[in-house]
Amino acid sequence: MAEPRPAFDLTAPEFDEVGDASLADLVAQLIDGLGEDVEREGLVKTPERVSRSLRFLTAGYHADLTTVVNGALFASEGSEMVVVKGIEFYSLCEHHMLPFFGKAAIGYVPNERVLGLSKFARVVDLFARRLQLQERMTSQIADALMEVLQPKGLAVVTEASHLCMMMRGVEKQGSTTRTSAMRGIFRQDARTRQEFLEALD
Ligand code: ZN
Repeated sequence: MAEPRPAFDLTAPEFDEVGDASLADLVAQLIDGLGEDVEREGLVKTPERVSRSLRFLTAGYHADLTTVVNGALFASEGSEMVVVKGIEFYSLCEHHMLPFFGKAAIGYVPNERVLGLSKFARVVDLFARRLQLQERMTSQIADALMEVLQPKGLAVVTEASHLCMMMRGVEKQGSTTRTSAMRGIFRQDARTRQEFLEALD
């Protein structure tokens, strides 16, 4: 694995401009291995573009949770369930390095602290932008938010389409995969879980 880089802002546009010559060389080898001519006009700059694009799509390896949630934790008396849904994510399956993408929903019952709403999408990106399994991504999002929020309970549901299934004809197009991770009272209490799942419809 490459040298870890300092934590950075996942949304920083300049990240997409950082080249990586050794990665670009490997992409050129890959294109050559596929039987293509790396020198032809349409492909000349492709290795560099693919290397930048892959770096961006796997940026989660170079960010950390503390940096991502920085400054957005607030004290709160409330103990009503908070549900954030429709959080888009794009990830790469670790078996084929093809995209899987969809939406995440997060629910939690606070325990004296809440997280700024925009940060949920950032935490999802932190784990989506890696080579992933959907099941593991869902659990990692739940565990990270448990650590940050220390809530009474928390739930994450993700629903995704996997291009490795769709493009390779393994699965009918249009089917989706749903995974969930329940923590604390969402695991222990069926009514809390039910309230959350009903909020997703
Ligand atoms: Zn796959």
